[in-house]
Amino acid sequence: MKRLFSGIQPSGDLHIGNYLGAIRNWVRMLTEYDCIFCIVDYHAITISYEVETMQSRIINAAAECIACGLNPDECTIFVQSHVPEHTELAWIFNTVTPMGDLGRMTQFKEKSEQHKQNVNVGLFDYPVLQAADILIYKAEAVPVGQDQIQHIEFSRRVARAFNSRYGETFPEPFHLTPNIGRIMGLDGKSKMSKSLENHISLSDSPEAIKKKLATAVTDINRKRRNDPGNPEICNILTLHRLLSTEKEIEYVGTECRKAGIGCIECKMILAKNMTAELEPIRERARELKENPERVREVLEAGKRRCRTIAAETVREVKTKMGLL
Ligand code: SF4
Repeated sequence: MKRLFSGIQPSGDLHIGNYLGAIRNWVRMLTEYDCIFCIVDYHAITISYEVETMQSRIINAAAECIACGLNPDECTIFVQSHVPEHTELAWIFNTVTPMGDLGRMTQFKEKSEQHKQNVNVGLFDYPVLQAADILIYKAEAVPVGQDQIQHIEFSRRVARAFNSRYGETFPEPFHLTPNIGRIMGLDGKSKMSKSLENHISLSDSPEAIKKKLATAVTDINRKRRNDPGNPEICNILTLHRLLSTEKEIEYVGTECRKAGIGCIECKMILAKNMTAELEPIRERARELKENPERVREVLEAGKRRCRTIAAETVREVKTKMGLL
């Protein structure tokens, strides 16, 4: 079985974009790959955060991943900072990484813009730690969204640079990017994000889902109920495609184009389907959050397995580099 690695930020309650864009696909890969999933707390601290809430954010993210279907009997889930070999390997990778490669990273430019008060070295070095996260497990498959493809290509370059300097050690990882369209936030402007308050949380109640969808931006050119709409530029149709039946998607698309359906009716069909999908997840997550010890046991088991693999890789790397 090839190994698969992916990470998720401990940004509190996960949202529907995390689920539909990432975790739901991870669940489908459990039988195909040896899957390792990481709560990336060291990445999370590259922007300002509340120290008091970090532990609960980590537990909540893990609980929700498990509730979404990442069965700990079928995969490994752990916390990045519990395996210190990640940062050790990242330091080693720093020495085979040209500064210019990091300066060209789109995410660094965007985050530097968003967090002008805190443009730190960790933010700049983020892709190197990400390369270490993946390569320390010699993972080959990395499921990511479109915006992370550049970082996976960067990881390939790091693997190549290390292999050519010190001998064949790492596979060059490939990205697995689902063809599902970009899930925008409810504001219709940016990617769905917890920090931008444009999201629907996995923990939202059916009423909250309806309320949030009711205010979501649609085709901005469709100003009145009688105006025909263009569903292809509407985020609501993107979500329908991920949650509704073929018949409903066809109905909504056709009726929208001839003004046969209003946006509220269209959104309420989506709300019904979203609620049906999220209800069992919300219930399982609630049970797990009430029993954080159960979640900690999963993370502890993940740490034990990952430390064994990571220590072995670091030993091999240091030997090849003449450090052991
Ligand atoms: Fe979007 Fe649906 Fe309104 Fe069409 S009817 S613009 S798909 S919300």
